[in-house]
Amino acid sequence: MDGFAARGGACTGWTQTLDRLVLRPPVRPSKIIGVGRNYSAHAAEMGEALPTEPVLFFKPSSALVTDGDAIVLPRGYERIDMEAELVVVIGTGGRRLSEAQALHAVVGYTVGNDISCRDLQRREPQWARAKGFDTFAPIGAWVRVCPPGEALDSSVRIRGYHDGVLRQDAAIGEMAFSVARLVSHISSCMTLTPGDLVFTGTPEGVTALVPGSHACVEMDGIDLGRLANPVVSSD
Ligand code: MN
Repeated sequence: MDGFAARGGACTGWTQTLDRLVLRPPVRPSKIIGVGRNYSAHAAEMGEALPTEPVLFFKPSSALVTDGDAIVLPRGYERIDMEAELVVVIGTGGRRLSEAQALHAVVGYTVGNDISCRDLQRREPQWARAKGFDTFAPIGAWVRVCPPGEALDSSVRIRGYHDGVLRQDAAIGEMAFSVARLVSHISSCMTLTPGDLVFTGTPEGVTALVPGSHACVEMDGIDLGRLANPVVSSD
């Protein structure tokens, strides 16, 4: 399938232990779409109201990294936060999808960390730089493939840990806009293609990263593994 790193693959029977492999992001998206303020408690902590329709932004595919890769903090900024998020992986995609059609266009889910430079986010009306530095889009190394059209259970929890301390913890049912609504809304504007990613927004508890710290995102309720990344400073 276009957009998937392993397309055309076949089972060879070759096996290897994980510690001897270098993991890569599982998709090559044509675009990464972010959703702002999709949990009311996070909107409140940012001093904002919930929007009446989803607020969208882009992250460049050059920002993608995966489990174990370093998050590199650019120098000269006061606050760069982690944001634990459920990430939708587009399968067939399409355009002008209804909410009823939307989940059939999704192949599955992974975890993500929407790294965000608050200095730039507040200073610049467009978030290309605030959200777009290299390594600012860590996603899980695995995609949890779901049956076409099937929604995740609303009780599934997204959790973010900083240095092993739980800082973010919310059920995805707390999202202001559901996955089906988000995919439908995005596709009313732009064609979604296989491997595209949607970062669905973060719960409250966003936490500042510093060099030497560790960021971790996991989902409770579905087997997606963990997304763990060390944090370093740029040269
Ligand atoms: Mn976010």
